Amino acid sequence: ASALAVHLSDEAATLGLGEQLGLALTGGMTLYLQGDLGAGKTTLTRGILRGRGFLGRVKSPTYTLVEPYVISNINFYHFDLYRFNDPSEWADAGFRDYFNSTSVCLVEWPEQASGMLPAADLTLQLSPEGLGRNLVLTAFSEPGRQCIAHLNT
Ligand code: ADP
Ligand code: MG
Repeated sequence: ASALAVHLSDEAATLGLGEQLGLALTGGMTLYLQGDLGAGKTTLTRGILRGRGFLGRVKSPTYTLVEPYVISNINFYHFDLYRFNDPSEWADAGFRDYFNSTSVCLVEWPEQASGMLPAADLTLQLSPEGLGRNLVLTAFSEPGRQCIAHLNT
């Protein structure tokens, strides 16, 4: 795995890094967004979708578990699995089909569905540091490495 650590001093920095990352994502990728409540996972997702040109509202799908965004023919699925606790729901909801070569899946709280989720191409780990956040990006595939290489930090 190859990794990169960056400090994000404010919300704008999180959005900006997300926008850069959004531009580098390709179909078929799965990203895990990790960190405690309030770490900035949804903010980073908002930046990623903005980077792809989506200017609408991005709210965390805490109760619906997933929110789809169709942006220039790519399906982006934003999962928030914080409240996911029934493994049978995974199959019933057809979540497995969301992970395919023409979609990009962004998953908050992936540890809640370990064993069901496909492996991550890239993990994004956020933690508080001073008034800002630290972000560690770790790539587990060639597309993931390409994304990290594309970033200007
Ligand atoms: P999560 O989805 O991990 O629970 P959110 O994305 O909802 O977290 O963010 C929680 C708060 O953190 C928001 O108020 C957001 O503005 C703030 N935030 C995001 N990135 C940063 C940063 N780099 N520095 C300081 N605050 C940030
Ligand atoms: Mg969130």
